[in-house]
Amino acid sequence: MDSKLDLIPLAQWGLFEYPRPFLVCGPCSAESEEQVMTTARDLRAMGLNVFRAGVWKPRTHPGSFEGAGVPALKWMQRAREAYGLKIATEVAGTKHVEACLEHGVDLVWIGARTTANPFLVQEIAEALRGTDVPVLVKNPVNPDIDLWIGALERLHREGVRKIGVIHRGCSSYEKLRYRNAPQWEIAIELRSRYPQLPFFCDPSHMGGDRSFLSEISQQALDLGLDGLMIESHCNPACALSDAKQQITPAELKDLVESLIVRDQTSDDLDYRRALARLRTRIDVIDESLLFNLGARMRVSREIGKVKKENNISIIQASRWDEVLSQAARTARTYDLPVDFVEKIFTDIHEASVRAQNDILSSDEDY
Ligand code: PEP
Ligand code: MN
Repeated sequence: MDSKLDLIPLAQWGLFEYPRPFLVCGPCSAESEEQVMTTARDLRAMGLNVFRAGVWKPRTHPGSFEGAGVPALKWMQRAREAYGLKIATEVAGTKHVEACLEHGVDLVWIGARTTANPFLVQEIAEALRGTDVPVLVKNPVNPDIDLWIGALERLHREGVRKIGVIHRGCSSYEKLRYRNAPQWEIAIELRSRYPQLPFFCDPSHMGGDRSFLSEISQQALDLGLDGLMIESHCNPACALSDAKQQITPAELKDLVESLIVRDQTSDDLDYRRALARLRTRIDVIDESLLFNLGARMRVSREIGKVKKENNISIIQASRWDEVLSQAARTARTYDLPVDFVEKIFTDIHEASVRAQNDILSSDEDY
């Protein structure tokens, strides 16, 4: 996908009102007409514009509540009429899209499990061809940025121009603090490749617990994201899905009011000068980092030649352990996170091993 992609800016979707963060909130699932109406009314009262609810639910285990289906769309339609809200739901195939179009759904999103399936994304893209319905694409469950971009490309190829993304973290085998690992680096990478792409975060599914909503939402805003999708239910304790991570509309109001919204940019001259000065310093530091990496690599190749001449294997575990623990110690003295430094050194070590391998397998005599 071309980074100069002709997407329609969020401000022209006709869904959100300023100020940031733009919100898409509502229950995980539409469970009953009463639950939808009560939640929608209270959310509207706190100033919400776009109401979400899951109509078809992709559940891990069969037999769990799998959504109320088309009747739920009618409840949402009613909430739309009664409270002047725009309505949003998840689609996972042609039939879902068709039902949404019939019921005047204003925004659809593609769930994390569906983004991971190009067949389904293609089907959805084709079903949306020629319509004006905006689509938010969640990241795939696995941390694969290309799969995410592929989904955006499929929609774009079918003529969809109101496209945005939702970062909701990635699943992992290990049990983490959060339900889904944030892997912000993927969001940051996508954000820098497509700066014009409307960008949301879903702290509800990322955290998996209401106690994490505030910290994740703030992180998302600090990264300059445009909006948040947060699950809110009139009675979270009784929710038929994702009970632990939902909050009441009143709690949502408090949460949103407590967030610090940072400007994405400023025309203030002092700010611009200070930023330009600091960025110049960063550029100089980056240059010296790269200079030193180059120097290190040359020494590493010298070591490779010495090993070759003496018929010594490349990997020497004890030396590597020594390098890594030295790096960790030094990291502490410079107040750097140890895991970050270890990650960098692991990459550097891999590149050195590769370079030495090339030397060992080449026919040249040193
Ligand atoms: C949801 O938003 O209700 C949902 C199922 O989310 P995800 O696709 O991120 O798991
Ligand atoms: Mn949910």
